[in-house]
Amino acid sequence: MTTVSLHNLSHAFPFGPPVLHDVSFTVGQGELMVLLGPSGSGKTTILRSIAGLVRPTEGDIIFDDQSVLGVPPERRGAVMVFQEHALFPYMDVGANVAFGLKMRRVDTNTIRIKVAQALAAVQLAGYENRRPDELSGGQRQRVALARALVIQPRVLLLDEPLSSLEPSLREDLRVTIRTLQQQAGITMIFVTHDQTDAVAVADRICLLMHGAVRQIGEPRSFFERPVDSDVARFFGGINFLPGIKRGRIVETDLGPLEVDDTDKPDGDVLVTIRPEAVEVGRNGHNNLVGMVETYSFQGLVARCGAGISDTQLQLTVTPYQRFRRGEEIILHLPRERIHLLPAENGQ
Ligand code: ADP
Ligand code: MG
Repeated sequence: MTTVSLHNLSHAFPFGPPVLHDVSFTVGQGELMVLLGPSGSGKTTILRSIAGLVRPTEGDIIFDDQSVLGVPPERRGAVMVFQEHALFPYMDVGANVAFGLKMRRVDTNTIRIKVAQALAAVQLAGYENRRPDELSGGQRQRVALARALVIQPRVLLLDEPLSSLEPSLREDLRVTIRTLQQQAGITMIFVTHDQTDAVAVADRICLLMHGAVRQIGEPRSFFERPVDSDVARFFGGINFLPGIKRGRIVETDLGPLEVDDTDKPDGDVLVTIRPEAVEVGRNGHNNLVGMVETYSFQGLVARCGAGISDTQLQLTVTPYQRFRRGEEIILHLPRERIHLLPAENGQ
C-alpha cells in the first residue's frame, strides 16, 4: 500500500500555456481520492504525471517517501485505466487479464489462478473465454479493471472509468470500484467531471479549476462549506445574495438574516443557502413571505422559485408538495444552513 503526494506540481506542454499551477495533495494509503473538475481543468495531465507518462515542468511526485520522477512508468507500480476500455480485441478476456502477468513472466498456473480471482472480483467469474466484442460496455470496463488489479498495483489510476456507461451500469460499476477499493485497500485516484460520481465513490474530493486546486475535502464539505461561489455552483448551489455582515446578522435584499456561520469578518459577504435547505412554513427565525413564480416537477423532487422583493429563491421540495404560480409561500431559512462566501468582485 502506498501514499501518493504531489508537491507544487506545475506543467506546460511544449510551446503551450501552463495547464497545471502549483498542484499539491496527498492521497493516503488505501484512500480513494477523486480528482473532480470541468473538462480541460488538468485532471488527465495529473494522472499521466503520476503514471509517468508526462514529466511535469515543476514540482515533485512522491510514493511513500520516495520521489518517482526518475522512475520509468513500468517500474512505478501505478496503473492507469482509461475511459475507452482499451482491451486487445483479438484476445479473449482471460488473455487480456493475463497480459501484465505474462509480461512479468509469472508461471502459467499462477496466472490462471490470479486471472480467475481478478475476474471474480469484478463479478465476471468464468468469463475467461469470451471475446471483448461479446461483452457489454460495462463488462468491458470491468475486464479493464481486472487487468489492472491482477498485477497488484501500488496505485490505481482511473480516468473517467464510468463516463461512457449508461446510468444503471454506472451505478453498478461505482459500487464494484468502491467495494474493491475497500476490500483490497488499494490507493486509488479516480478522475471524473461528474459530481454525482465523485460524491458517490470518494473518501475525499480534490476539486480542480483551470489547472489549480480549489478545494480538498470530504464530499459533504463541498455542499456545506464551499470555499467560493464557483465551488458552490459546481455542486448545484443557485441561491446567492450579496450581504453585509454585522456579527450574527447579515443585511440582504431579503431583509436581515440570522446566521451561525460567523467565521468571516464583518463586512461584504455573499450569502448562500442550498435549494434543499430552504424550508416551507413558519419556524422560529428567518421567515420570509414570497410568491411562487416557478414550479417544476422533476420526478424525485420538485423545484420551486419563490419571488421575494426583487430576488428569487430556489427551493427543492418533495414531488408531493405542489405549488401554483402566484400562490403565497412562507419560507424558513434555517440559520445553521446559511453559508457565507467571500464577496464577489464588483459587489
Ligand atoms: P481534463 O482531463 O481535466 O479534461 P487535460 O489534463 O486533458 O484536462 O487537459 C488540460 C489542458 O492541457 C487542456 O487545456 C488541454 O488542451 C491541454 N493538453 C492536454 N494534453 C495536451 C498535450 N498532449 N499537448 C498540449 N496540450 C495538452
Ligand atoms: Mg481528461
